[in-house]
Amino acid sequence: MIVCKFGGTSIQDADALMRLAKIIEARRDLQPVVVSSAMGNTTNKLLDIARTAASGRQQHALDLLAELQESHLREAQKLGIATSEDRVSQEIHTYLDEMRDLVKGLAALGELTPRVSDAMASFGERLSTVIITQVLENQGIPAQLMDARKCIITNDNFVNAVPLSDETEEAILKHLLPVIRENKVPVFQGFIGSTRDGVTTTIGRGGSDHSASLVGAALNAEEILIWTDVDGIMTTDPRMVPEARRIKEISFNEAAELAYFGARVLHPATILPAVRKKVSVRVLNSTKPDQEGTIITDETRYCENPVKAIAYKKGITVMNVTSTRMLMAYGFLKRIFEIFDHYKVPVDVVATSEVSVSLTVDETSALWDIVTELKKVGDVNVDGSKAIVCCVGDNLRNTPGVAHTIFSALQDVNIQMISQGASSINITFVIDEDRLPEAVRGLHDSLFREIDPRIFE
Ligand code: ASP
Ligand code: MG
Repeated sequence: MIVCKFGGTSIQDADALMRLAKIIEARRDLQPVVVSSAMGNTTNKLLDIARTAASGRQQHALDLLAELQESHLREAQKLGIATSEDRVSQEIHTYLDEMRDLVKGLAALGELTPRVSDAMASFGERLSTVIITQVLENQGIPAQLMDARKCIITNDNFVNAVPLSDETEEAILKHLLPVIRENKVPVFQGFIGSTRDGVTTTIGRGGSDHSASLVGAALNAEEILIWTDVDGIMTTDPRMVPEARRIKEISFNEAAELAYFGARVLHPATILPAVRKKVSVRVLNSTKPDQEGTIITDETRYCENPVKAIAYKKGITVMNVTSTRMLMAYGFLKRIFEIFDHYKVPVDVVATSEVSVSLTVDETSALWDIVTELKKVGDVNVDGSKAIVCCVGDNLRNTPGVAHTIFSALQDVNIQMISQGASSINITFVIDEDRLPEAVRGLHDSLFREIDPRIFE
């Protein structure tokens, strides 16, 4: 068995949907399971509609909904489905009725709860999979629409619900295996799940990768294919550095590190369920299905280049907490982290000295509440418009002199914080955001001037 996960751009219109059908057709013998995201930008649009409705602009929200309906019907009709009174058009209309009810409810209440937000967002994947199932059927591929909400069982932390592994695994096997045995292609929604009580949840933006990983792990699949609009995982963001190379093979640890530090290709949580079962994940371009993409494996292969990729994250804020009371005392770090924990704000990079702690955050919604709390611990200063740059490579730890190469390449870019991750497969530092392009280009030039052809293309 294999799992084929399609991201929003890989199903954004009729052409993309036809490519999907061809991709599945070519892999029929491998017993594929389709896990799909919402079409194109649908999730953002749905969330926007929900907010618009809750802010009292009911008519505007209904108009936006009508546009969304229109675009789904239009692409489906280009493929000869959802034409008149067929099952697909009926299903789309039923969903739209439900969404209109939600919009009216939101407008009346004037408040958008995370629970209703999830209910609304779930329609993106529910709509896309209805269409995909029919597209496959029309191409002569027996397919069966599944309800991911019966399989991905989560806690009730709406918007970022966490799948409960044992129950989820059991439910996936129970619902998917009989369909696969009948030689049908199950079509499964990414991103959505439900609580034990059957209330719809979503598992975090970009969560379809995670869904695919859960399905692949439960089924002990041979491989999970992540179909995207990029050629694979690249040595760095090709929009910033056009010379970026495709990485043919990368380890799970490296990929997780990259995902966390801003590489757009994969959701970090994807990694875990698949890693545990040693199921490899391959990132592929759905517009170039014959290319080999990037394979993410559990193994660490030797690579001549100590750094495999450079990731970055913009919009970083550095917070410095200084307290002379810290000198020779203990318990300060605990108090500081408790504050971030309380506001559920993740900290990326930490550096400490005898009397100060510097931390970076990339989410500033609770910033001033956090600062108020931190001031009880020491003097606080906040420094915005920073960027984190992260060089990742399994071989970093065995290669003397890499830090020298990295920091020489940066020339006169001022480095504010440096950390070499505990896993010692990354070197991470903080710089001013406006120096980011030159820093990344300089680094890429010097780290990838020569490449190991077994690992890079
Ligand atoms: N459609 C969802 C989102 O846009 C999930 C995904 O794309 O993976 O976040
Ligand atoms: Mg999406």
